[in-house]
Amino acid sequence: MSKSIQLLVLDVDGVLTDGRLLMVENAGLIKAFHVLDGGAIRLWRESGRDVAILTARRSPAVAQRANELGIEHVLQGFDDKLSGYERLCRELGASDESICYVGDDFLDLRPMQRCGYPVAVASAAPEVKRVAAYVTGRSGGAGAVREVVQHLLSRAGQWNDLVDKYRLAPIAGKG
Ligand SMILES: [Mg+2]
Repeated sequence: MSKSIQLLVLDVDGVLTDGRLLMVENAGLIKAFHVLDGGAIRLWRESGRDVAILTARRSPAVAQRANELGIEHVLQGFDDKLSGYERLCRELGASDESICYVGDDFLDLRPMQRCGYPVAVASAAPEVKRVAAYVTGRSGGAGAVREVVQHLLSRAGQWNDLVDKYRLAPIAGKG
């Protein structure tokens, strides 16, 4: 099942962040992203797979974070997440079965019901957890996306090999 997952679609608020919107007078919203999620997203891309961001809000911080992580597919301002999801399918030529969608709230229900592997974060609404094939142990903004990536790549038998690339070469004679 997850061996065939090729596209990871991520909600932002409540998934890549803890869902709090820090509003600063006369300035934009402040969003806090978790560094562990960033590392895992890089690993996911290094495995030759795609990642996309799909969010109802619009924020320069999201564009900036996506740019840092090399995420090319960023759809902001999509209240109707199903239409955003369908647009990603069209543009990337992805089938429902090949998509894992990670969400936390009602807006995510439709694409979650459509995709091959719906995931809810620990902090998601109960109704969202109910339609999920997998619920993370970590909450949004606290490394939940890293957990999803590890889960999918482990099932595909690739996680250890991908992480091994970051280790020093083994020393002869040492286990
Ligand atoms: Mg959300």
